[in-house]
Amino acid sequence: MSITKRVYTFGNGKAEGKADMKNLLGGKGANLAEMNLIGVPVPPGFTITTDTCTEYYQLGKDKVVELLKPEVEAAIALIEKLMNSKFGDVENPLLVSVRSGARASMPGMMDTILNLGLNDAVVDGLTRKTGNARFAWDSYRRFVQMYGDVVLGMKPENKNDIDPFEEIIEEVKEAKGVELDTDLTVEDLKELVTKFKAAVKKQTGKDFPESAYEQLWGAVCSVFDSWMNDRAILYRKMEGIPAEWGTAVNVQAMVFGNMGETSATGVCFSRDAATGEDQFIGEYLINAQGEDVVAGIRTPQQITKLGSQRWAELAGVSEEERRSKFPSMEEAMPEIYKELDAIQTKLENHYRDMQDMEFTVQEGKLWMLQTRSGKRTGAAMVKIAMDMLRQGMIDEKTALLRLEPNKLDELLHPIFDKEALKKATVIAKGLAASPGAASGMIVFNADDAAEWAKQDDMEAQLDAEGKRPKKKVIMVRIETSPEDLAGMAAAEGILTARGGMTSHAAVVARGMGKCCVSGAGALRIDYAAKTMEVDGKIYKEGDYISLNGSNGDIYDGKVATKEAELDSDFAEIMTLSDKYTKMAVRTNADTPKDAKKAREFGAVGIGLCRTEHMFFEGEKIKAMREMILAENAEGRRVALEKILPYQQADFEGIFEAMEGCPVTVRLLDPPLHEFVPHDEKGQQEMANAMGVDVKVIKQRVDALHEQNPMLGHRGARLGNTYPEITEMQTKAILGAALKLKKKGVKTMPEIMVPLTGILYEFLEQEKVIRATAKKLFEETGDSIDYKVGTMIEIPRAALTANRIASAAEFFSFGTNDLTQMTFGYSRDDIGSFLPVYLEKKILKFDPFQVLDQNGVGQLVRMATEKGRAVRPDLKCGICGEHGGEPSSVEFCHRVGLNYVSCSPFRVPIARLAAAQAALKED
Ligand code: ADP
Ligand code: MG
Ligand code: MG
Repeated sequence: MSITKRVYTFGNGKAEGKADMKNLLGGKGANLAEMNLIGVPVPPGFTITTDTCTEYYQLGKDKVVELLKPEVEAAIALIEKLMNSKFGDVENPLLVSVRSGARASMPGMMDTILNLGLNDAVVDGLTRKTGNARFAWDSYRRFVQMYGDVVLGMKPENKNDIDPFEEIIEEVKEAKGVELDTDLTVEDLKELVTKFKAAVKKQTGKDFPESAYEQLWGAVCSVFDSWMNDRAILYRKMEGIPAEWGTAVNVQAMVFGNMGETSATGVCFSRDAATGEDQFIGEYLINAQGEDVVAGIRTPQQITKLGSQRWAELAGVSEEERRSKFPSMEEAMPEIYKELDAIQTKLENHYRDMQDMEFTVQEGKLWMLQTRSGKRTGAAMVKIAMDMLRQGMIDEKTALLRLEPNKLDELLHPIFDKEALKKATVIAKGLAASPGAASGMIVFNADDAAEWAKQDDMEAQLDAEGKRPKKKVIMVRIETSPEDLAGMAAAEGILTARGGMTSHAAVVARGMGKCCVSGAGALRIDYAAKTMEVDGKIYKEGDYISLNGSNGDIYDGKVATKEAELDSDFAEIMTLSDKYTKMAVRTNADTPKDAKKAREFGAVGIGLCRTEHMFFEGEKIKAMREMILAENAEGRRVALEKILPYQQADFEGIFEAMEGCPVTVRLLDPPLHEFVPHDEKGQQEMANAMGVDVKVIKQRVDALHEQNPMLGHRGARLGNTYPEITEMQTKAILGAALKLKKKGVKTMPEIMVPLTGILYEFLEQEKVIRATAKKLFEETGDSIDYKVGTMIEIPRAALTANRIASAAEFFSFGTNDLTQMTFGYSRDDIGSFLPVYLEKKILKFDPFQVLDQNGVGQLVRMATEKGRAVRPDLKCGICGEHGGEPSSVEFCHRVGLNYVSCSPFRVPIARLAAAQAALKED
């Protein structure tokens, strides 16, 4: 790399950079340049490029300083000219700030240094020039402190250790008997500087640098060094920011908010970042500098009168007191306020997005120091985009593309009451497995959860209709299994001590849209004693805890929650998405309730209806067990006859909820051992029911044991060894459809064979399905249009997709199993190495959450192409967890799938992501 220009200047309405040069100048530098260009008052300065940072790590400090020198000196000369002062001069000094600024805003980078250029002589000159000794010495002591902390390494590594400078300030304040920094006299400030410098000498063995240029180079290099500090590296890792980007350095003439009562500093937003309300909002402090507003040393005041009044109401401050003691800037500095209001409007109109801005007022003159697109909540994101669309600031495409699909999630789940959350105590943390908020009594098993949830809560207040609410429970388990399903459904939330983001609990909870925190390793759960120990504290059955599924926090006691409310903006975003999308969005749903919810969210069909969960409830499990434990096909048929009516009723419910939409029903998939009783009591129960010895039952259960059940006797292998199961399920599916047809309900059943790997595996199953259907249609004298297709979830199926498509009428990519088998990872056992793989960047993402486009994705692409080569109208969709993950949805669009299918609560996210994928293409 050969760099010819390392420094870009800005000032007085001119700039060498502009907004779209963020990669080279960092976000802060690019926007400082842009603000200059559009006539916003910004103190002059210059930006050293991010490429120079990279060069710094290649060539080393000395070489880069040498290369930079001529350009930096010329740039300083330009600032001197514009500010009519001189860097390092005693009588007329120019002071500067040194600020870091990467492409993406990055906490963990170097702290800003203000007032650079001061020394023992210059501080006197500054006093004479301004006639304000207090200001000069306040600036000087701030500078020595910041420079000492940041550049000279005085700041303790550990955040809990005391900063040596803060310690000195406390000592001096105590000795003088004052409380606030602002109460310190000039003499006190002088004493502070002397003591600060002595501390520096003592700790570093070196004198504090006096020369302005020496200070400047120290600060510039320290910004570059901070790019590789632990905090910054950690943050980059979390956010996936590459180290090659580097940081820029901004050097800028100081403006002073600490020059007295006509000076101030503050931060503001062009719209409310929490609610999205189109209302200018912000805070400021009179006679203060830099970060004082956010540092919480003094309580800042509101910028607008409205904001101030709202604040007073919350704080319980009377209007009179507010006006005299806490006036807004609008009231206290009306002229400056008008100017600031005009600038924030101008900046928002220019960038066409909500802006987050920093400003300083020096003796009645306003200066802007930073602007950027503001971070916002999910709710604000939606409102701001739709308001701006209505206001004609952005077009439909921009509005849609600006939304972060994943953030919609925040709007869909119950949330904690904000005030209640402030008072809550976090007792432990787990993984944020399924978002939402939940509060309830602890129970330790699924039966109790289901049982308690039916009981009246005698302690709760009567509801609006005078009814007593039922008990709310949190189901706490070491880990969950399919048997826990009913308990999970009944609980407000699920907490597990073990298991990752794709553990059973996490996947099922997300599917149900139920709050879940998983893998909370600090919990010691004792099922026998029905207790949970956290950090020495024992929680018993019935004790209250609360879960935050959005960040993984677990709280002590009850924290009030409320239902999410979807407004018209949300609906409009969905309508707009449908206008641009090319893919349909279906849902994965096993119950009428989930199906209804998903329809409300806009799902146009079911992409995966799993039938195994239907076998667990109540009497069904007994018949199911009887079927599995039967000795021969005859015995199985008898048991299956008992299951048939239940199964058919289940399908009737689901088909009715999805009236007029396609419903893909998957035939029984899991290994049978998941259904049988493993405990003695359960085995005895079955022995009695079946009239055999318990030993026989035990033997059958043992015989079902498999070493690798996920690679074992399941899916199409079950249907092919026990065709009577396929027969029964076909009867149930089509029987339900026929019954609904009589009621005038239109259904579109799609029967799906799971785990096909060989064409003949599918053909055999198809034969059973078609024969059963034919017989049923003959018997009833009526018929239904239905399709027979298969899951593509075994690599061999993808490789031979052309053969399978010769018979299968549709493909549904089961990307959970396909990922598992393509990588050769067991989804349930990746916990031991996945974190290391992610840490070492061997894997960029958890492939069970984000579709592996280069590997698994290629199988999806290839199978789609091969399948359509022999059956051009082959309907292809995806039904793994990935169907609701935005980057995976985008991939599905590019591959040309007809639909994605995801859990109900991810449907809106998938709809938006699908629209964005289409928009990004043209
Ligand atoms: P951050 O990236 O943490 O926001 P900044 O570089 O924006 O850090 O600066 C921290 C604080 O110092 C901000 O309040 C900013 O407004 C203030 N500041 C930075 N440069 C100057 C300057 N030249 N004059 C006055 N205040 C400044
Ligand atoms: Mg800033
Ligand atoms: Mg599967």
